[in-house]
Amino acid sequence: MTMVTAGNRVVDFLKGKASQDLPATSYFPGIHEARIDELLPEWIVSRMRRGLTLFGKQMRGYNTENCDLIGFETRTSSPVRIPRDPQTLQHPDVQGLYPCAEGAGYAGGIVSAALDGIRCADALAAG
Ligand SMILES: Cc1cc2nc3c(=O)[nH]c(=O)nc-3n(C[C@H](O)[C@H](O)[C@H](O)COP(=O)(O)OP(=O)(O)OC[C@H]3O[C@@H](n4cnc5c(N)ncnc54)[C@H](O)[C@@H]3O)c2cc1C
Repeated sequence: MTMVTAGNRVVDFLKGKASQDLPATSYFPGIHEARIDELLPEWIVSRMRRGLTLFGKQMRGYNTENCDLIGFETRTSSPVRIPRDPQTLQHPDVQGLYPCAEGAGYAGGIVSAALDGIRCADALAAG
């Protein structure tokens, strides 16, 4: 299967049109011109347009021809969650098992995984 990642110049995204070409990118898999406003729901597009326009006013040069939107990064965290008791943090049926962090469904990134790890280690030490 070929993976294609969408690219749209910010100035074109704000106008709601496809980019004729795209600037060089360091994004390794490469990008293909696409209308990102047609790939996302309207409630996200309208907020992105508002935000990008605001940034463009606050930071000179932010919304230029050379600024690309590249997408999408999607959720890769575990879609399932191993049950655990909210007090002991142990599995309700398997004593001594502490479902923890991303794979168990309790974190979605480095910091949340680390914090959940600390929480589980504290629960283990206290138990
Ligand atoms: C390409 C990529 C980019 C990412 N970028 C970001 C980012 O920019 N910012 C961000 O916040 N998060 C990012 N993440 C997510 C982040 O890396 C994870 O959310 C985090 O590392 C999860 O931590 P964890 O301790 O739950 O799991 P892991 O870090 O996966 O740790 C699980 C550990 O369990 C071990 N293990 C597995 N099976 C067994 C077994 N049977 N016996 C013993 N040990 C076992 C593994 O070897 C591993 O050491 C990224 C993830 C990927 C894949």
